[in-house]
Amino acid sequence: MKVLFVASELAPFAKTGGLADVMAALPPYLHRAGHDVRVFVPLYDTVDTSNLPLVRTLEIDVPLGEHRYHITVFRGHDAPPTYFLYCPALFARGRLYTSHPDEHRRFLALAFGALLSCHELGFVPDVIHGHDWQAALLPMIVKSLFPRELRGTRTLLTIHNLNYQGSFPAAAGADTNLQPELFHQELLGAGRVNFLLQGILFADGISTVSPTYANEIQTAEHGAGLDGFLRARSSTVVGILNGVDYQEWSPERDRHIPHHYRPSDLGGKARNKQALLASLGLPHDPQVPVLGVVSRLVGQKGFGLFEPAMFDLLRRHRFQLVALGSGEPALEDLFSRLAQSFPQRVGFYKGFQNSLAHLIEAGADMFVMPSRYEPCGLNQLYSLRYGTVPIVHRTGGLADTVQQWSPRTGTGTGFVFAHHDQAGLSWAIEAALATYRDPAQWQRLMHNGMAQDFSWDTQGKLYELVYERLTR
Ligand code: ADP
Repeated sequence: MKVLFVASELAPFAKTGGLADVMAALPPYLHRAGHDVRVFVPLYDTVDTSNLPLVRTLEIDVPLGEHRYHITVFRGHDAPPTYFLYCPALFARGRLYTSHPDEHRRFLALAFGALLSCHELGFVPDVIHGHDWQAALLPMIVKSLFPRELRGTRTLLTIHNLNYQGSFPAAAGADTNLQPELFHQELLGAGRVNFLLQGILFADGISTVSPTYANEIQTAEHGAGLDGFLRARSSTVVGILNGVDYQEWSPERDRHIPHHYRPSDLGGKARNKQALLASLGLPHDPQVPVLGVVSRLVGQKGFGLFEPAMFDLLRRHRFQLVALGSGEPALEDLFSRLAQSFPQRVGFYKGFQNSLAHLIEAGADMFVMPSRYEPCGLNQLYSLRYGTVPIVHRTGGLADTVQQWSPRTGTGTGFVFAHHDQAGLSWAIEAALATYRDPAQWQRLMHNGMAQDFSWDTQGKLYELVYERLTR
């Protein structure tokens, strides 16, 4: 099958979250499975091109309403062919996303740039797989602007997070080259256009990144105002968990950690713990469990619960906390205050650092994700593989991938709290700390997690089935 991927992120070149990891793994899986795949992403000025042999391939002009952009298309790597769109007027902003008045045009240029490039390259996709609001107008564009050229092409929109919708003033509609009648009229009347909504209305298929989240987004509680539209298209909405790139994320071969280990020999994990604590200047005691956090620090991730729960837990129990993240100043401040209040026990690295993320997965004993909602979540999947027991709120992909530990049956892979409140989080962390004190039980729990398999070989097949259904 010929599949065109269009997205705003691709690890390791341009990443703010899980979308980048999916883009780095799913297209290569499909390429290996024999499909003819093309990938289009922006060439942001933040992309480190030192390991990216860029070959100038095309020059194209993209008109967007009254604006016109010249794009140089570079071919990056070949497995599958991956194209980077160079347009400094749009993509040289020092970061991936902005709140600039032309934000919509930045990603319209990506969508049109991808389609026009495919035309030049003679690539007629069977499926256009667009991701998030940045690619969500593709279904409309295909149907209304290329009805003949792309009449056999089906579109799949994957929603990685429903809360990022691409909502713009109605005037942005004029830059889409699309007729105003195609936009949701009531919203247009209210002075807005919403790119994700348009994708939900026009895509042939809609997917999101876990079965539970696929249900949640159809409820008023998690629907972010779009639940009614998703319910109306319920039969086309599927949830497919993200896979893990175990080449990158497994303790047997991780390039970023000092000591490798495997389920049958966990010695390396204890040494990684020592290295992790040393790197943050914290004292090490093998008996004291270490709780890890790696996250964007935004409201979604639920760390508001740490105040006062985490202060209280640190006062009452023996454990250490290592946290890596950046984001909202109030949450960065919360972690800074934890580190100041417990200087020997809490380490906080403010920033984005891939190698430290790996070391935390490898060196911590437990990993906490108190997300208010979580479309899929990747870190709990990494944690399972690294024998780092996840403590999660029962929501979205966390609910689908972590099973509550049962000491009676010896089954389960982590600790799962149902109610997103102080008591729920404290209960789960205290249950984990109590279990840690029983080494036999803890080992069993670690092994249960390490035996889980969320590889792309499994998850990618589910996407192939969706493509087949769409094109049948
Ligand atoms: P989201 O996409 O909502 O941020 P996911 O759990 O799906 O959440 O994906 C997060 C990804 O980003 C993981 O690969 C995680 O390791 C990485 N990550 C998040 N914050 C940081 C950080 N501060 N430093 C390094 N990696 C991070």
